[in-house]
Amino acid sequence: MLSFILCTCLLFLFIYTLFPFVMTRVCGIGVANQGKDQSKVALTFDDGPDPYYTPRLLDLLKEHRIKATFFVLGSRAELYPDLIKRMHTEGHQIGIHNYLHKSNWLMSPFCVRRRHIERSADIVEQITGERPTFYRPPWGLLNLGDLFLLRKSYRVVLWSVMGRDWKLQSDTTQWKRSITQQIQPGSIILLHDCGKTLGADEGAPGQMLAGLPSVLEDIRIKGFRCVRADEILTNTKCSFSQRSASMSPRTKLLGGIERGAKASWHYEEAANGAAAYPTDPIR
Ligand SMILES: [Zn+2]
Repeated sequence: MLSFILCTCLLFLFIYTLFPFVMTRVCGIGVANQGKDQSKVALTFDDGPDPYYTPRLLDLLKEHRIKATFFVLGSRAELYPDLIKRMHTEGHQIGIHNYLHKSNWLMSPFCVRRRHIERSADIVEQITGERPTFYRPPWGLLNLGDLFLLRKSYRVVLWSVMGRDWKLQSDTTQWKRSITQQIQPGSIILLHDCGKTLGADEGAPGQMLAGLPSVLEDIRIKGFRCVRADEILTNTKCSFSQRSASMSPRTKLLGGIERGAKASWHYEEAANGAAAYPTDPIR
């Protein structure tokens, strides 16, 4: 009897955690982790905003005229609304990375959805007037329910390039080398602008910031353009009407204003209007 219970528990754990892991992280099913555009790569920054590092990163991106995607924690967005506002005003995309940096494996799909994603989306929407539609789970870990429940409203975006920029490296060139060696057409690059999450080093974003200009230079030499994740993920099934349907009533009301007043900078580098919105097929 005990062995039966043990086997049942193990089977449940496997189905709830490892099955979605294999589907998403190994097979790339149900998530976007690579763009199809051969001339672009996307820079994405997780775990922020951070009052010390994020402004410096925004300055650097502005200097290089680059738009990026920030997967923010709702709790930190609540603490630093001015940084969220600045990201939005300067044309960056804001996605959700849970309210707290907690693994989805330890939560029910309902908890993930309501207490983390929707709560964080509400916070960002209240600050910017625009509801995020992109989501990246902490450590890229989805549970079984997320795999099926999130896809209607959110684009789940992982990555194809990752250095160990969340840890301080004794060799400062190590993470840069790791990143630049992996970059390919359509790469989605994972970086971190906050070092206050579990397993990270608090000063690591400083090292990332010091090395980022040379990574950007390498990307430029390779002939790629850095864009937001929603721009690189082309050929989507998620049309604007579908995206609009996922917006809250408040955002729908603001939609006309948003699209009219901010489209010029928000999607200024998009190839055309259709491609300016989240686009990638969910694989
Ligand atoms: Zn994270």
